[in-house]
Amino acid sequence: MEIYLPTLNQSIRPGKILCIGKNYARHAAEMHSAVPEQPMVFLKPSTALVANGGRIEIPPASFEVHHEVELVAAIGRTGKNIDVSEALNYIDGYAVGLDMTARDIQQRAKEKGHPWSVAKGFDTFAPIGAFVAASEIPNPQNLSISLTINGEVRQEGHTGDMVFPVAQLISFCSTIFTLEPGDLLYTGTPEGVGAVAIGDKLVARLGEVPELHVEVH
Ligand code: MG
Repeated sequence: MEIYLPTLNQSIRPGKILCIGKNYARHAAEMHSAVPEQPMVFLKPSTALVANGGRIEIPPASFEVHHEVELVAAIGRTGKNIDVSEALNYIDGYAVGLDMTARDIQQRAKEKGHPWSVAKGFDTFAPIGAFVAASEIPNPQNLSISLTINGEVRQEGHTGDMVFPVAQLISFCSTIFTLEPGDLLYTGTPEGVGAVAIGDKLVARLGEVPELHVEVH
């Protein structure tokens, strides 16, 4: 799937999807985890993306797929070892996304010290809304974020509560990976994660960015 980058005015297939775990203190607490001392990074494949209006498929391997609503930044410029003070200039746009997680598979992986790739990487596990230009969002730490299921609010938070703000996440990730146009950064979820069921209609919201509507299939 290609992502339309509004600032570059170009559609690109993301090369990588970077995700941050435990980036809101109350979500870390509900997972019985401590807040990490530096950003906790994992990856999803770009085959997990699904656009607004699409469907989340529950894989046969999982009996407990959770929603995690997240602010997503799309990278617009190539960069490595980016300074925190420059980091927001590398963002093309912002969207709301869902970091779908097979919580049962993740729990077993955690117990064994195994990676999270399977729990996080199934097809359709990275729903993503349309991006708005970064110039329209001068401060990504000042946005309300929420998720409703069948009209009922399940997650409600504020991006100001991130443990590591977006600029710091980009700077940190760029010390590991060369960031390239089209790369996506899922920045972690506030508290209130829970299981979805077949037929559920999910609506994710982030400030004034376009809503993300997906249905569980
Ligand atoms: Mg997440």
